[in-house]
Amino acid sequence: MNSCLFCRIVRREIPAEIVHETADVLAFRDVRPVAPTHVLVVPKRHVAAVREAEDTDGELLGQVMIGARDVARSLGLAAGGYRLVVNNGEEAGQTVFHLHVHVLAGRSLAWPPG
Ligand code: AMP
Repeated sequence: MNSCLFCRIVRREIPAEIVHETADVLAFRDVRPVAPTHVLVVPKRHVAAVREAEDTDGELLGQVMIGARDVARSLGLAAGGYRLVVNNGEEAGQTVFHLHVHVLAGRSLAWPPG
């Protein structure tokens, strides 16, 4: 068993507020939200980041995006709009090295990000 934080959440070894689950994807609320709605969507299988993904991981990447869409639908975010963020590597702000999509909504989100 690896000690990756998000793998441990997937295995229910660490508590999280889960909002969506499929056979391949888990979504839970970020513990330090930066928007009124801030959910993380992760693949259950460990992939460190998009930059580490293999060509054969296309289905997994698609499932994570579909998971983000379903989270947005179930939380009623689709009409107003929401932002999906995927940080890749330290300079981009990635701090947990298990691929995840941030689903952000509930406030005005500036572009470009600071
Ligand atoms: P990133 O900086 O893109 O790697 O995003 C990692 C996110 O994980 C951050 O927004 C953290 O607030 C969040 N996070 C860290 N630990 C936990 C946890 N135990 N449960 C939920 N979210 C967490």
